[in-house]
Amino acid sequence: MSMPDTESDFLRRVRPSDWKNPTPRNPYDLIIVGGGPAGLTAAELAARDGRRVALIERDRLGGNSLNSGSIPSKAIIQAARVLAFLRDEEDFGAAAFERPRIDFAAVMARMRRIRSRVAEYHSIDRLCAQGIDVFLCDARFDGPNTLSAGDSQLSFKKAIVATGARPERSDLPGLEQVGYLTSDTIFELTELPKRLGVIGGGPLGCELAQAFCRLGSQVTIVQNDPKFLPHEDRDAAELLSLSLSRDGVITRLNTAVVGAHSERGAKCLDTTSADVKLSIEVDEILLSIGRVPNVENMGLSAAGIEFDTARGIDVDEFLQTTNVDVYAAGDVCQSDQFTNVAESSARLAVHNAFGGRTERQGHWTIPWCTYCDPEIAHVGMHVREARQQSIPVKSFIVMLQDVDRAITDGLQDGFVKIHVREGTDQILGATIVATRAGELINEMSVIMSAGIGMRRLAGILHTYPAQSDAIRLAALAYLNDQPPA
Ligand SMILES: Cc1cc2nc3c(=O)[nH]c(=O)nc-3n(C[C@H](O)[C@H](O)[C@H](O)COP(=O)(O)OP(=O)(O)OC[C@H]3O[C@@H](n4cnc5c(N)ncnc54)[C@H](O)[C@@H]3O)c2cc1C
Repeated sequence: MSMPDTESDFLRRVRPSDWKNPTPRNPYDLIIVGGGPAGLTAAELAARDGRRVALIERDRLGGNSLNSGSIPSKAIIQAARVLAFLRDEEDFGAAAFERPRIDFAAVMARMRRIRSRVAEYHSIDRLCAQGIDVFLCDARFDGPNTLSAGDSQLSFKKAIVATGARPERSDLPGLEQVGYLTSDTIFELTELPKRLGVIGGGPLGCELAQAFCRLGSQVTIVQNDPKFLPHEDRDAAELLSLSLSRDGVITRLNTAVVGAHSERGAKCLDTTSADVKLSIEVDEILLSIGRVPNVENMGLSAAGIEFDTARGIDVDEFLQTTNVDVYAAGDVCQSDQFTNVAESSARLAVHNAFGGRTERQGHWTIPWCTYCDPEIAHVGMHVREARQQSIPVKSFIVMLQDVDRAITDGLQDGFVKIHVREGTDQILGATIVATRAGELINEMSVIMSAGIGMRRLAGILHTYPAQSDAIRLAALAYLNDQPPA
C-alpha cells in the first residue's frame, strides 16, 4: 500500500494553511469545541442525524490521540519492538542477520507517514463532505448559548465541550530553566537523545522509556512510588519492572526528582531516595507526571459551566454540564483518559443532548492497555476495588509459560488473571499481561458485557494453539476449583 509521506499531506488533512473559516449559519443545532476523538465522533454522529453542526478546533484536527498521543506513540513502540525482536533473533535460528543499525530519522519518518495515513479518517475534507462547518481557531463562550470562534459570533441550541487535556507541568526547581520534553513535543524530535531521563512511571512514561531504550537511548526512569503503573495489579507492575530492566532501562523506584540543573552542557536530575541523593546526567528530560483538563481561557463561567482546574468540567451522569444546553465529553470531564472513553462519552453526550437525557454513564465495561512489552491490559474491577466494596473475590491465574501457543512463539512472559465474585461464577474483572494483551483483553470485555460467567466460558471453544486459550484455561481452573456436584 502506498502511503503519503509528506508533512504537507498531513497538515492539509488536519490544518490546511490556507483554510478560511466559513460564514456562520446561526443558530447551530450543535456546536462542538475541540476536534479530538470526542469532538470528531460527536460532530459526525450529529451530522449523520441531519443536524446543523459546527466544529471548532484551535490546533490540529485529530486532537491529542492523532497528533501526540496514541497514534505516534504506538507507531514508535512498534518500530522499537521490531528492533528488539531482531536483537533476540538468535533464539529463532536466524543468527545470519547482522545486528540492526537504528535509523532514528527513518523511525520518525515512518511515524509521520502513519499519522498522515490515519489522519485521512479525520480530515477536514471528510468533515466538510458531511456538511459540518469547521472553524480552525480558539473558541470562547460569551453567554449561555453563544460563543466566539476567531472573528465569528456563533449561536447554538446545544453544545459539547471536548477540549481534552494537556501534559501537567511541574514547578520542580530548575526544570523550566534546563528545558524538558512532554508528550506534546517528544514526537517532534529529530535526533535520538543519547541519554533520556523520564520523570514519572505511569503508562506514558513506561511506554516511552522502553521504546526509546530499544531505539538506542540510555534511559533512566524515575518514579516516586514503590512500583510502576501504581493503579495496576502488583504482579503486572513487577513483570513490567523486570522487562524494563532486561531491556536496559535504568529504573529508579521510590525515588523523587527534587530539582534539575545544568552541568557541563548536560541536564542533571537531582533525586532523593530514602536519604540517598543522586544526580542523574542526561541529554533530554521527558516529564510525564499526568494530564490536566483544558478548561481555562474559554469563557466557561460566562456560559454558566462549572469546572475545576484539576478535575475538569463538572458533569452529571448524563454528561450534562451546569448549563442545561451544554454537555461535555472526553478527557475534559472523564477520569478515564482514553480514546475509547472519549468516543463513547461523545456518543452519549449527543444522544442525551437531543434524546432527552435517557442514557446514563457509569456502567461501561472499559478495557485499557499500557503498550509496553509485554503489554498490560485490564478490564473491570481490580481486587482492591472489590475489597473496598466488600465484595468477596477470588482470582484464577494462568501463566503464559503454561500456554502452548505462548511457548511455541517464545512469548511466555505474562499471565491471564480473572477475578470472580466468590461463591458465583460472575466475572468482576481481568488483568492480562502478554505481548498482545491489548488484543486479548477485548475478549474479556465482550464476555463481561455479555454477562458470560466462568462456567460458560470454560466451554467456549478457542482455536488451538492460541494465546487467547489462556482465558479459557483460567475458566477451566475455576471449574476445577468447584466442589464435586
Ligand atoms: C503519549 C500518549 C499516548 C496515549 N496513548 C493512548 C492509547 O494507547 N490508548 C488510548 O485509549 N488513549 C491513549 N492516550 C490518551 C488519548 O490520546 C486521549 O484520551 C484522547 O485523545 C482524548 O480525546 P479528547 O477528544 O477528549 O481530547 P483531545 O484528543 O485532547 O482533543 C481535544 C482538542 O480540543 C482542542 N481545544 C482545546 N481547547 C480549545 C479551545 N478553547 N478552542 C478550540 N479547540 C480547543 C485541542 O486543540 C484538541 O485538539 C494517549 C495519550 C498520550 C499523551
